[in-house]
Amino acid sequence: STAPSEQWREYQGAPTGTDRECRGWRQEAAFRLLNNNLDPEVAEKPEELIVYGGTGRAARSWDAYDAILEELRELAADETLLVQSGKPVGRFRTHERAPRVLIANSNLVGNWDTWEHFHELEAEGLIMYGQMTAGSWAYIGTQGILQGTFETLAELARQEFDGDLEGRIVVTGGLGGMGGAQPLAVTMNRGVCLAAEVDGDRIDRRVETGYCMERIDDLAEAIDRCQAAAAASEPYSVGVRINAADLLEGLLERGFVPDVVTDQTSAHDALEGYYPSGYAVEEADRLREQDPERYVGESLETMERHVDGILSLQDRGAIAFEYGNNIRGQVREERGMESAFDFPGFVPAYIRPQFCRGKGPFRWLALSGDPEDIHRTDEAVLELFPEKDHLRRWIELAQERVQFQGLPSRVCWLGYETDDSDGRYERPDDQRGELTERARFALRINDLVADGEITAPIVVTRDHLDAGSVASPNRETEDMKDGTDAVADWPILNALLNCAAGADIVSVHDGGGVGIGNAVHANNHVVLDGTDLAAEKAAAVFTTDPGSGVIRHADAGYEDALEEAERSGVRIPMREA
Ligand code: NAD
Repeated sequence: STAPSEQWREYQGAPTGTDRECRGWRQEAAFRLLNNNLDPEVAEKPEELIVYGGTGRAARSWDAYDAILEELRELAADETLLVQSGKPVGRFRTHERAPRVLIANSNLVGNWDTWEHFHELEAEGLIMYGQMTAGSWAYIGTQGILQGTFETLAELARQEFDGDLEGRIVVTGGLGGMGGAQPLAVTMNRGVCLAAEVDGDRIDRRVETGYCMERIDDLAEAIDRCQAAAAASEPYSVGVRINAADLLEGLLERGFVPDVVTDQTSAHDALEGYYPSGYAVEEADRLREQDPERYVGESLETMERHVDGILSLQDRGAIAFEYGNNIRGQVREERGMESAFDFPGFVPAYIRPQFCRGKGPFRWLALSGDPEDIHRTDEAVLELFPEKDHLRRWIELAQERVQFQGLPSRVCWLGYETDDSDGRYERPDDQRGELTERARFALRINDLVADGEITAPIVVTRDHLDAGSVASPNRETEDMKDGTDAVADWPILNALLNCAAGADIVSVHDGGGVGIGNAVHANNHVVLDGTDLAAEKAAAVFTTDPGSGVIRHADAGYEDALEEAERSGVRIPMREA
């Protein structure tokens, strides 16, 4: 059926509070997370089951959604539900330590792994595009991208400057759904952001929601304002209504070289995502309708000028990186511009060093629906890691700036790095009796739930973009040291390992972020309900999961990963130092 489910209309998001509809909290967590992904405050087009990212869905159809809820209500504590591309397909007795839900979305066999074949199957209702966190019920709204962008810029600042962006100017483009997080992520790192956006309404929206500080339509004035703020070491952000390619040429003409240049226009889609230069938004929209071919031609022409601008600024000393919108791929494939890849993607440049240490976007949600529960977890993070200034800055700014969408949640980057300061949950000898950062945090939260300081269980999950859980040659595994960009054994081993370690929901998908056939990735959830079983599962999963990131990068020969393995006692057969 195509009409939205009556149940969905009634729920309007996740049920909250301490009374359950399901037979246990592990089942209830899945039940609430699926509904949270389809909360009108969280999802882009919930009436079509679309959560985010083009057509990333949480369930294949409204009938499948109803059936999943029904199965979860009945699911026993020793049963496992199987979900295949958003449809429940089986339920088996397994055992209590096993996952309650296993999910596989959008996966196709190599030679058939194309959008074309996918769309044929999709039209017949046989498959679903799960994106990353849409089909695995782990999406938390815009906080995720804000924190990812904050973290990327923080790593850039650590590598290139004195640890933050104070007095530095970042130039970028695109203030859309994801790109709109850029100005705030820059000012959170104490820098100045100058962002080009052709659509004035988008700039206004970012100013209204506090993501961008000012809109200035005159370029010279915008540059002056940014330079003055940088000179005064004042965090500031300006959205300027101009095409990004024109902005960069304007900067070059004026001989102004920013400290950093990047872009987050939707260049991955030349027709629907990117605007050609020389048109107001309405004129371009009309051209797209009337003459899509000409639109794409002009759009790609502008993109080439745009990349040219980035490369010229890089030549003059700016730090340049691509932020995952495939603008380099577009101009190389469609315009034959071979130099397009002369500036790096953000993962090899800034994220991989963290992946080597098992660090990635770790996140959790309060099943109670009570924001106080998340505030208590914020305190716990700061108590556990008092030495991490950068983490403190993120948590404090997030409390101030991030509005919760759906179930209250928090995201921060934690990794493998072990510490034995909390001797209570010792690991077996061969893992040196120490706990990873992620495990220490999860165990502390489990205790707080047990003590009633947190009112209902917390579910801990993460993005699929994580240290050991993704193969994506144009993004997360671009330019691996040993050429293993396209080897998908790693995310599959990660998913299997998550099951073995006792995660409560485990999923493996194809095509997230970069499209069908371009990525394989996995995800997990652990429900912290205050029980000893939850503590055991958390200690295991939050060791093996970041640990698989350390071994994946050590295997590829990264020094940081080998060092982390040595320091934290991660066993790597055939690689003993
Ligand atoms: P969006 O479509 O919501 O926003 C794009 C914005 O760019 C729009 O506001 C549009 O008006 C503007 N724009 C388009 N062409 C322009 C031009 N030439 N000059 C100035 N402005 C222009 O998209 P989004 O959700 O913000 O995502 C942006 C891009 O970032 C996408 O390509 C997406 O795939 C990519 N992305 C990367 C990551 C990552 O992890 N790095 C995460 C999410 C999205």
